Amino acid sequence: MSDHEQSQTGCIVVGGGPAGVLLSLLLARKGVEVTLLEMHRDFDRDFRGDTVHMSTLEVLDQIGLAEPLHEIPHAKMHRMEINAGGRTVVVADFTRLRTKYPYIMMMPQSDFLEFLCKRAEQYPSFHRVMGAQVIDLIRDGDRIVGVRYRRDGEEQELRAPLTVASDGRFSRIRVLAEVEANEQTPPMDAAWFRVSRRDDEGLEGGAFYAGSGRLLVMLVRPDEWQIAYVFPKGDFQSLREQGIDQFRASIAELVPWLGDRVDEIESFHEVHLLKVGSDRLQTWHQPGLLFIGDAAHVMSPVGGIGINYAIGDAVEAANVLTEPLLRGEVGGDALAEVQRRRERPTRMAQRMQGLMQDNIVLRAIREQDFDLPAPMRFVLATPFLRDIPARIIARGFSRLRLQAP
Ligand SMILES: Cc1cc2nc3c(=O)[nH]c(=O)nc-3n(C[C@H](O)[C@H](O)[C@H](O)COP(=O)(O)OP(=O)(O)OC[C@H]3O[C@@H](n4cnc5c(N)ncnc54)[C@H](O)[C@@H]3O)c2cc1C
Repeated sequence: MSDHEQSQTGCIVVGGGPAGVLLSLLLARKGVEVTLLEMHRDFDRDFRGDTVHMSTLEVLDQIGLAEPLHEIPHAKMHRMEINAGGRTVVVADFTRLRTKYPYIMMMPQSDFLEFLCKRAEQYPSFHRVMGAQVIDLIRDGDRIVGVRYRRDGEEQELRAPLTVASDGRFSRIRVLAEVEANEQTPPMDAAWFRVSRRDDEGLEGGAFYAGSGRLLVMLVRPDEWQIAYVFPKGDFQSLREQGIDQFRASIAELVPWLGDRVDEIESFHEVHLLKVGSDRLQTWHQPGLLFIGDAAHVMSPVGGIGINYAIGDAVEAANVLTEPLLRGEVGGDALAEVQRRRERPTRMAQRMQGLMQDNIVLRAIREQDFDLPAPMRFVLATPFLRDIPARIIARGFSRLRLQAP
C-alpha cells in the first residue's frame, strides 16, 4: 500500500512548511505513525523566507542534525544592519550571543525542508503524501477524526486521533473549523522581487536600506538577492501607476551598487505583492485538532521571525504530544498545554513587532531623512542592553528545547 492509500494513521499533519515538516520528523523519530499531507508536489516556493535561526539550529543539534545541515550550501548572517542617510547602524550582532551558532543561517527554504523530510524518511513511521490538498474535515460528533484530501483528481479519506493544521497563513483548516482570530493590521505591505548577485557580494550583515520614504530589505540567496520593497499599506496600485522605470530608479537611488542590475526587473509581473498581516487564534485547538505555525498565528515579517515561531510550536507540540500520541489518546488538556506554552511568547513577539512597525518601519517609509528613534539608539549604545534585539530575533521570547531528544 502506498502512502497515499493509507486510511488510518497516528497523526495527520496538514501542510509541509517548517512547522509541519519539523513536527512530522520529531514525532516519527519517536515511533509515532505520522502522515504529512502537502498540497504542492515539491517544496520549491518563491519568497517565503530562507532563515534558519539559532534556536532552530540548537534544537537540530540536540538530535544530531545541525552539522549535516551545514553541509548544504548556505550563507551566514552575523549581523543585521540598517543603512540610512549614508550611515550604517548594527541593530543586531549575533556574534556576541553565547551559542554554538552565532548567526542566522540563510538557506533556500526548499533545501531546508527537503533535508528534514529526507531525515524523517529514515523512520518507517513517517509517511508523506505530496500533491495532497486537504479539502474537508471528518467529524464524529464534535470531534475531528480525520481529513478528506484530493490528489490526482481523486478524493481520499485519512483518519487519526489527532490532526495538526500547519497549513500556513491562508489556512483552509481554519475556515473548515470555523475558528476565530484576533487581528492586527500592520501599516505596511511589501513588494518582493529578485536581482542577480555577484559571487563577491556576501552577507555578513543582513541589509536594510532606509531613506527618501522607502525601506528595502535584502536577503541573500545562492545566486540572487531577494528584495522586499516596503511601502505604506494599500499603496501598491499607486506604485504601479508610477511605472517600472520610477520603481527601478528609486531602488538604484537607495542602493546605488544595485543600479547596474535594476533593469533585470522587466515589469511589474516580476514584482510580487505581499499583503502584510498579523493575527492569532483565540483557541488553538478543538477535540482532535491542533493549529500550529502561521495557521495558529500569522506573523508580520518584521524581524524575520515567522519561521522561528513556527518551529517553536512544532518543538513544543512534540514535547507535549509524543506520549499521548504513542498511546493513541490525545485529550483536550494536552492540546491546551501546547497553546499555553506557545501563546505567551507569540503574543510578546507580535507586540514587539507592532512597536517596531509603528516606531521604525512607519517612520522609514514616511520620512525623507530616516534615523532610528532615540530609545532604540540608546539601547544599541548601552553595553548591557545592546544585545537584546539580537537575542529576541535569534531566540524569541522563550528558550526552545526538546525535552526528550
Ligand atoms: C514573502 C515572505 C517572506 C518571508 N520571509 C521570512 C523570513 O525571512 N524569515 C522568517 O522567519 N519568516 C519569513 N516569512 C514568514 C514565514 O514564511 C512563515 O512564518 C513560515 O513559513 C510559517 O511556517 P508554517 O509551517 O506555519 O507555514 P507555511 O510555511 O506557510 O507552510 C504551510 C504549508 O501548507 C501547505 N498547505 C496549505 N493549504 C493546504 C491544504 N489545504 N492541504 C495541504 N497542504 C496545504 C502549503 O502548501 C505550505 O507548504 C516570510 C513570509 C513571506 C510570505
